Amino acid sequence: MAAQTEPRQVTETRAEGDVPLWVHPEWRERFSWLVQGTTGRGRGAEPFDMGLSGVQPVGPALDRWRALRAASGMDVVAHSRQVHAADLWIHREVGAPGIQVMDGFDGHVTDRRGLLITVGVADCVPVSVVDPETSVIAMLHAGWRGTAAGIVERGIHRMVESWQSSPERLHVHCGPAICGECYEVGPEVHEAVNPDAPVPPGKANIDVRASIARRVMGLGVPAENVTVSTHCTRCGEPDFFSHRGGSKARQMGVLGMIERR
Ligand SMILES: [Zn+2]
Repeated sequence: MAAQTEPRQVTETRAEGDVPLWVHPEWRERFSWLVQGTTGRGRGAEPFDMGLSGVQPVGPALDRWRALRAASGMDVVAHSRQVHAADLWIHREVGAPGIQVMDGFDGHVTDRRGLLITVGVADCVPVSVVDPETSVIAMLHAGWRGTAAGIVERGIHRMVESWQSSPERLHVHCGPAICGECYEVGPEVHEAVNPDAPVPPGKANIDVRASIARRVMGLGVPAENVTVSTHCTRCGEPDFFSHRGGSKARQMGVLGMIERR
C-alpha cells in the first residue's frame, strides 16, 4: 500500500455537557488522557462567546471561562491576548488554580498535567500538537500572519529541542477555521503563507489549513498523524463564530492533559 501523503479530514463532534465543546473523535478514543477540542457558539439564548478583548461585558465572559474550567476538570486554564505573531509561552508550572490571562503570546507549550492551554479563534486555525511518548502538548493560534511567521514550526521545534520530541511521533490537528472556498485574500497573503508557490496576480482563495498541514508534514510528521477539521467557521456553520461573517465573538481551541493517564 502506498504511503499516505494527504492529511485526513475529520469532523469534530459536540461533547455532552453544558459547555459547547467540539472534540476530535479519533483523539477521544486514542488519547483519553487529553481534554481537547474547540468551543462553539452553543445553542443557548446567549452565544458562548469566550472573547476577553472585545466589547462584551467581562462578567458573563468570565462565567463561561469558569464553566470551561469546571467542565475540563483542570486546575488552571491559561489564555493570552494574541497578537498574530509567533511568540510561545512554555508553561513549566501549572500555577495557582483559576484562570490565567497573559499578554502577547499566540502559542502555548507544556508538559504539565492539570493545565488547559487555550487560543482564541474565529476563522483563524487552532492547531493542536500532541506527543504521546513524552507527554508534551502545544496549542497554537495560526491565522495567515502566524502561519507565515512560522508559529507551527516554532512550536514543533520547541518540543523537539526541549523534550526530544520526534516529529514522526507527533499528532497534529487543524481545528474549525475558515475554509479555502470562503477565504479570498490578496497576493501578499499568498506569498506570505505559501512562499514556494506561484503568487496569483490578484485576489484568490487560500486554504490556510492545507498550508499548515504541508508545513507540518515537511517537518517529518507522518501524513496519517495529521488531521484537518471539515468544519468551516464561515460557510453553513451555525455552530462557530466567524470574523469574516461579521462576528466579534471568539471560540477557544483547548488542549490539556488530565492528572492520570
Ligand atoms: Zn467555508
